[in-house]
Formats: sequence, structure tokens, C-alpha cells
Amino acid sequence: MAELTELTIHEAAGLLKSGEVSSVDLTQAHLDRIAEVDGTIRAYLTVTTDEALEAARAADARRASGEDHPLLGIPLAYKDVLCTEGVETTCGSRILKGYRPPYSATAIERLAQHGAVMLGKTNMDEFAMGSSTENSAYQITRNPWDTERVPGGSSGGSSAAVAARMALGALGTDTGGSIRQPASLSGVVGIKPSYGRVSRYGLVAFGSSLDQIGPFTRSVADAALLLNTMVGHDERDSTSMSLPVVDFTADLTEDIKGLRIGVPDEYFIEGIEPDVERTIREAIDKLGEMGAEVKPVSLPHTDSALPVYYLVAPAEASANLARFDGVRYGPRIEGDEMWETYRQTKGAGFGPEVKRRIMLGTYALSAGYFDAYYLKAQKVRTLIKQDFDRAFEEVDVIAGPVSPTTAFKIGERVDDPLQMYLSDVFTLAVNLAGICGISVPCGFDGKGLPIGLQFIGPAFGEDRILHAAHAYEQTTTWHTQAPSFDLVS
Ligand code: GLN
Repeated sequence: MAELTELTIHEAAGLLKSGEVSSVDLTQAHLDRIAEVDGTIRAYLTVTTDEALEAARAADARRASGEDHPLLGIPLAYKDVLCTEGVETTCGSRILKGYRPPYSATAIERLAQHGAVMLGKTNMDEFAMGSSTENSAYQITRNPWDTERVPGGSSGGSSAAVAARMALGALGTDTGGSIRQPASLSGVVGIKPSYGRVSRYGLVAFGSSLDQIGPFTRSVADAALLLNTMVGHDERDSTSMSLPVVDFTADLTEDIKGLRIGVPDEYFIEGIEPDVERTIREAIDKLGEMGAEVKPVSLPHTDSALPVYYLVAPAEASANLARFDGVRYGPRIEGDEMWETYRQTKGAGFGPEVKRRIMLGTYALSAGYFDAYYLKAQKVRTLIKQDFDRAFEEVDVIAGPVSPTTAFKIGERVDDPLQMYLSDVFTLAVNLAGICGISVPCGFDGKGLPIGLQFIGPAFGEDRILHAAHAYEQTTTWHTQAPSFDLVS
């Protein structure tokens, strides 16, 4: 039998169903793997060993009593921005150190109801602001393909945990690229669902009109399986949509004959690494050979996505983060009076990138600047959305790069916010438009670093991008390759 940590979720589910493996075995194998390699990778902020084994025993008991579900007994990791009842949830920030939420995020609750086992909470850029996971207040996560490099971000703990075989799957969140970009840089699959597809209840808000929760896995079919359980209306999030129940795994065929794939010129710009461009173009050629109808599309407002995002997202963040004042959550630094307590607590609790975002956002929303910045950005946001609406009249999905570069070195961009922001230049527009996108492994650069191919679909067109990504994946072997790295003591 293959190593238990090497399995896909589908494979593990088969072994659990046939009784060849118990959830306790599977969970223990992952806890052992974490103990062995996480000192090097540093993907987890918290490992919930006892709770995981208890949940695994409960899953085995449910199965013994006749229950059956593909996720029953499957060990997963959750980004630390998702509330987990009784388990520390810090969002990678000092300001939430020690915070134990009284409830779990709906997405996690649904996975748990079907028997998924939580292994722990993964590292992230503070409040999901960043593209490298270096903005975590606690630790730097290393990329399993090259431990001197970042795994991407902000969900870099989740992508690295899945890539390094420390979880069969993980959850992340994507406000401007934070699932797709780390999936690309870590060589795993990551999907950002359409806005409204997954309840945001229990996701600590960054940009409320942009945030979505989504899975990381080592196959497209596994991502579809996790999504099946996470989606659906939740009365505690009024933006979650009530849509007919679909099985995202049902249409995963390898046949893409006649699928219309649009390739935007605007996604092949100066600054994209030659290896990335070549690999993406090869992948698109392959889709053509498979029978897809590949044609150019234009997304003329692509250039505006980055400036619009960096007005809208910080504006929403500045409002959302106002609640962290030392009164209700996390540690408080007592001052002589209330304002001084706020100042001290926030001053010490927030890191530099979060402070930068709060200042940008507060400025964009302030009287006299609101019309010139925030309101204008919202108008351009509509133009960006209309670009996609027009493109999807002609094509079924859009294909292109996820990020202009492969994984960069730890420390390389951390002092250069603009360079860091450019990492998401091909992912931000999808969030602004509320549509969906997926990253699927499509090759390696000359240094052996993974590259992800992005498929973008219209709102609630997850079935389309899952189908295209699955068909591509099944004709390649990129997703079957595992990173190897030396352990540091
Ligand atoms: N890197 C982008 C940012 O820093 C996107 C982050 C995200 O998707 N959470 O805002």
C-alpha cells in the first residue's frame, strides 16, 4: 500500500470505505509526518493532536455503525483565519493571540458534520494581507520545493501543508489571489469559488465583498469533493446563495472537445517570467490538441485591477479591523484612558502591512477623498466585471497564468510592497468581478519550481473550470510529482 500521506482524498476514501485503513491510522500517519517535517516547513501554527485522534476515533465509530461519506475520517488542515470552536484562531496576528472562538466557521462545521478530521491551523499572512506568508506575526513558512523560498500567500501554510504531505487537503481564503497564487507557487490545486458560493460565516473578514473560502488539494477531483460539502446557503451569511445542489465531481470527464477557451492578451505582459509564459502557452496548446477551441479574448481593464483592488480591499479592511481594539478579543495593553488603550493595543498588536492597509483604506474613505478614490474605484470595478461578462459571451472559460513568477526567495520582496502586490496581478480581477478561478499544476521552471495554470469561469461556473482543469490534469503528470527537501534540525 502506498504511504498514507501520499494518497489523494479519493484514494484514502476508498481505503476507508473498504476497511483497509482506519481514520486513526490515516490521521496518525499525518501527525507523524507533521512531527517529522514541520520543523522545517513550518506550515502549522497549531497542531490539534488530541482532538484529531478523538475525531478520527469518532469517524471510525460512525463508519462501523454503517455511515458512509467520502470525507468520513479524512484529515484536513484549516487556515488560521477560519474560526474553530475552542481552538486558538489568530489570523497570523499578535492582536488575536490566545483568542479561542466560541463557534466554528460554517464551511468547517459542514466538513466536520460529514466526518472530516481537523489536524490543525495553518500559518498565513497577518489577516490574509500578503502574497508570501512572511507577514505572519509568528513564523515563516518554507516552500517544500525549495526551502529558501516562500510558498506564496496569504494561505501559504495551507498550500505548503498539502504540498509537503502534511494534510490530504486544506482550506484557505482568497480575497485577491490567496488560494490560487500559493497553490501555483506550491504545486497544488487551489480553487476560489464565486462570491456567494461558500458561506463566509466564521471567516474573519478582510475585504467582505471579495473574500471567499476554498480548498487546496493534490487533485482537481479532490477539490470538487471538498467543495461539494462546503457550499450552499447559510442563514448566518446573507451573501451566501441558495442554489440547486450540484455534485461537482459528476462531470469530471476528460473530454473537452468543443470547449471554448479564451486567452486574454492582457495576461501576457512585461514582467512575466519567460519560463512561466512558455509553460502556460504550452499548456494552452495542449488544450487545443485535446479538442478545445482556443481563441483570443480581450479584458481591456486588466491594468486597472491592481489599483482598484488596493483601494477597495484596504477600505473594507479598515472598517473590518476596527473591531480589534483590545476590548473584546485578544490581549489588551492598558493605557490611562480609552483612546490610549486603543492606541497601545493596536500599535503593538498589528504588524506593518496591516497598518499600511488600514491607513490606505481610511484615507480612501475619508471625507473629501471618498469620491475621488473609493467611489471611482467601485465604478472601475464595474468595468472590470463587464469585461468578463463580454468575454463569457464568447467563451466558456478563460485560461492564463496565475502569477507572473514562480516562488521567490524569502526576504526578496518583503520590503517592497509594490513588488509583492504584483504577485497577484492576474488573480485580483476575479475577486473584483465575483467570479471563480482555479490553479492547476502545469509544469516547472528551470529551477524546478512549480507553475500553475489558471482557469477562470463566470459566476457560479465552478463546474466549468473544474472540468477544464481536471481534463488537463488527467493528460499530464505534473500533479503527481512530490517535492523533496532536506530537514533542518
Ligand atoms: N495578496 C493580496 C493582498 O495582499 C491578496 C490577499 C488575499 O487574497 N487574501 O491583499
